[in-house]
Amino acid sequence: GPKARRFRHVLGAISHAIRVQEARLTTLDQAVGDGDLGFSLRRGADALDKAFAGNLPADEASLLRLVSQTLRRSIGGTSGPLYAIAALRASEVLRKTNDPSAHAWAEALTASCTGISELGGAARGDRTMLDALIPAAEAFSGAVGSGAPVSTALAQAVTAARQGAAATAGMTPRKGRSSYLGDRVAGHPDPGAEAVAIWLAALAHEFS
Ligand code: ADP
Ligand code: MG
Ligand code: MG
Repeated sequence: GPKARRFRHVLGAISHAIRVQEARLTTLDQAVGDGDLGFSLRRGADALDKAFAGNLPADEASLLRLVSQTLRRSIGGTSGPLYAIAALRASEVLRKTNDPSAHAWAEALTASCTGISELGGAARGDRTMLDALIPAAEAFSGAVGSGAPVSTALAQAVTAARQGAAATAGMTPRKGRSSYLGDRVAGHPDPGAEAVAIWLAALAHEFS
């Protein structure tokens, strides 16, 4: 149906952006981690393209469930289960409505942040992907709440994600592999946070 086609189109833009930025994500994760993030996310992107090439469910909740299952299988490392639960929690929120409004998507994005935080035990300021995703969710929710069009709300979310990702360069790592390196990561941004800014920008571009 039309929802599935739209969804496939947006996912295609995201997976394209991940492939284009794979080398940069590798370099970023080499500086502060084990260097597999670019490869892991590219594997996820390829798996999404494959999974969404065939017959698709008709509604957003089921489509996001398929995203979750696909990412759980295809992304290795820490990011896999975290992205899988993010998509699953968003799916559960959207299950409650037949035609999700921008408000429902805002609630879904917030639920994704909560899911990641619950599974990985990280909070804002711990120097993880959440330092891009939580500000993005807040910016999106705030803009939607004040009646802004989705394109504007997404543009503000991207700005917040980019600022949040940049700010991780000054944060002390408390979760994940980077925490073993301590102060040696100073000045380098968190690769997972940069990845959030990349896929969110690709998504926003499709609605601009
Ligand atoms: P690894 O190779 O260390 O298993 P990845 O390379 O897949 O992990 O992902 C690294 C990114 O995962 C980090 O840059 C960070 O943003 C994110 N991350 C690591 N641990 C957590 C956590 N507990 N909660 C949220 N995000 C995390
Ligand atoms: Mg890694
Ligand atoms: Mg790894």
